Amino acid sequence: MHTTEEYSRIIALHFSPEVVRKPMMYNLAKKFDLTFNILKARISPREEGHMILELSGNREDFKKGISYLQKHGISIQDVAQSITRDESICTHCGLCTALCFNKALSLDPETRVIVFHDSRCTACSNCTRICPVGAMHVETNGDS
Ligand code: SF4
Ligand code: SF4
Repeated sequence: MHTTEEYSRIIALHFSPEVVRKPMMYNLAKKFDLTFNILKARISPREEGHMILELSGNREDFKKGISYLQKHGISIQDVAQSITRDESICTHCGLCTALCFNKALSLDPETRVIVFHDSRCTACSNCTRICPVGAMHVETNGDS
């Protein structure tokens, strides 16, 4: 049975200089209909590449995409992650609340402060992309 369940994971990729020159990310999107958001990348033409990305799509396509990368000699690790907020720079503008579907960021109607309930946060990283001052940070264990 074909499932349309959406799936998303943060993964770390390590690859050889030969792979650096191939359009792997382009193929991943085109062949398997996956979307990706590169969170961190260190690539040089003569050295190994290292990349952390959020990969999303249909669960079956996701598995096929991962096999495709592995067949091309790319090693893949899951990356545990968490989100933190830099309280010293948050301006409490409220923009992030519209993108947080887990209600982990909400307006306190009395104080007009945006409260971060980190226990509700699923680390989807939506807020990190919209925050105008970069107060929301992705912390990973795979960025060495
Ligand atoms: S978008 Fe950024 S600055 Fe605005 S409330 Fe959210 S975390 Fe704070
Ligand atoms: S990472 Fe996602 S769930 Fe967590 S606070 Fe940001 S938008 Fe909400």
